[in-house]
Formats: sequence, C-alpha cells, structure tokens
Amino acid sequence: MKTHRNLPFFVPHAGCPNCCVFCSQTKITGEKCEKELALEIAELRKMCESEGGSFDESQIAFFGGSFTAIKRDRMEALLAVANEYIAKGVASGIRISTRPDCIDEEILSILKRYRVTNIELGIQSTDDSVLRKCERGHDSRASFESSKMIVNGGFELCGQMMIGLPISSPESEIQTAHDIVRMGATEARIYPTVVFEETKLYDMTLSGEYVPMELDEAVKRTAKCYRVFLDAGVKLLRIGLHASENLKKAPYGANHQALGELVKGEVYTDIISDMAGDCGGRILCVHIRRADTSMLCGHSGRAIARLKEKTGCAEVEIIPSDLPQFKPLITTRSV
Ligand code: SF4
Repeated sequence: MKTHRNLPFFVPHAGCPNCCVFCSQTKITGEKCEKELALEIAELRKMCESEGGSFDESQIAFFGGSFTAIKRDRMEALLAVANEYIAKGVASGIRISTRPDCIDEEILSILKRYRVTNIELGIQSTDDSVLRKCERGHDSRASFESSKMIVNGGFELCGQMMIGLPISSPESEIQTAHDIVRMGATEARIYPTVVFEETKLYDMTLSGEYVPMELDEAVKRTAKCYRVFLDAGVKLLRIGLHASENLKKAPYGANHQALGELVKGEVYTDIISDMAGDCGGRILCVHIRRADTSMLCGHSGRAIARLKEKTGCAEVEIIPSDLPQFKPLITTRSV
C-alpha cells in the first residue's frame, strides 16, 4: 500500500481578514502572527529537506490561516519554493487551506499555475445563523460558490466543518455534512469545537452564553457527520485538532486525545449492530481489520458495552482479520 503524508507548513493567521469567535490560530499552532518572508522561506526549505522524500506520496500543505488572503507576492514566493521541491521529487503536490470568501477565478488560476492540487475550505457550517453568531464574516452562499469554482477548476475539494458551534444543532451539522458532499468534496475534516483562552468564545463560555460540549456529546454528534461522509465515499482526513501543548491547555471543549478513535468506534458499533440485528443473548463474533481492533477493544470497553446494549448479545468476540476498514464480518454462536 502506498504511504502518504502531508508536509504541514503553518502560515498562522496570516492574511485572515476576520476574527471568528472560536479562533485562536496563535493558540492552535503555538506561533505568532507575522514572520519575515526570508525567515519563513528558510523554514519552509528546512521542513521540505528534513521531512520530505520518505513517503511514496507527500504534499506540501499550507495550513493555519487563510492562505489565499495573504499578500500576493508572499503567497507566490511560498508556492514557488514548494514547486522547487516538487521538481526535485520531494513532494508530489501542494494543498492549501483557506476561507470560502478568499477564492475567486484569478486566485484559482495562480494556484493552478503553481501546481496546487487540493484546496481545503473552512466551511464550518452551512447554517447562516450559526455563521453569523460565530462572526465568520461570510455566509453559506460563499461556500457553495467557491466550492463550485474549485471543483470546476479541477481541484480536489476538502470540506472542513465544525461540531458544537454556538447555536448549532446536531441537525444543522448533519445538514452541513450533506451540503459538503453536494458541493463535490472528495475529502473532509471534522473539528469538534475547542474553547481556547483569549477568544470571544471563552468569554461567551464564562458568561454562560455558550455551553461547551461534553466529550460524550461531541463523540455522538461527530459520529453522525462521519457516517454521512462514509456513506458518500468522502475520505475523512481528520477528526479534531492535532495534539499540541496548547490544545492540552484548552480549558473547555472536545480536546480529548483519542477523539478520532472514539468517534470511529461509535460509527463502527452502529455499522456492526445494524448488521447483527437482535442477537438474543448469543455471542456476537466480529471479524474486523487488524488495525481497527483498538477502536473496539480500547477506551474502557466503551464500544463493546455499546454493542451489547444495541444488539442484546451476551458477549462480543473480536477476531482480527484481513478485511477492509468498516467492512466487518458478523456471525453469532450460542453461549
Ligand atoms: S477564518 Fe480561520 S484563521 Fe480566520 S479568524 Fe476564522 S478560523 Fe481564524
């Protein structure tokens, strides 16, 4: 199997014309806002030289702010350096992340020229009341229009969405996931909301205007959206923010280190219990991909307990097998 990875290069908050209530890019990346271009380029070269080349496929990934909103000469300088490393075979392509209202045909033609292949769009929600409450500074129409331009331009679209934003509901999140599928995304990321200090959301939390999700609720709501992507064949690249010291220090919200595993375990138990139906006190035997056993067996037996509750089986036997992910084989036997 081919190995793939991103070579992430953070352009923290740079160029972003906005200040969403939940955003603290400095807190997420742990870096300050603006850097001298020469220093930034030196860091990009260092990252490409030290981390590139050890995988079958890798993409230089400009994350962290709104890449297409940074000054044009700075954006092109970074892309030109990335292109040098593509020419040297260190990376096979470039991905960037940006806001829906920072995309237009002219920007897309520049990205195309510099061999950008994947564009990640911070959609977050397609519910306009949620976007307004979060002070996103754009509406859902911007997401639909920019995603259309991206897909028509021949780029791969990755839709990023959030769970548990102020005044958001599980229904509006499921709708957002369906909308991202409709936009033509081939990839997605789901970020359950984390509350960082020194953000408006932190103040809203302290005043009681916003109630952060408990872990259990975050897992359930995220799992529902994951299922939408799974059923539509959209590849889920990530659940939750990457682990960092700053994330550990976030005082509220869904910053559990194993959030992704918990969500996948929830989805997996739904799939298995749908297949198994009522086991009427028998032993449920589940053949699953070897790499997925921790999803079901770890985390204090959460998934196993859920399987017992949903199927009425007496015991669950997990049998590691050579199967594809999320394609388990189910049998039962008497106690
Ligand atoms: S658009 Fe992104 S970088 Fe800009 S304030 Fe919002 S979350 Fe932060």
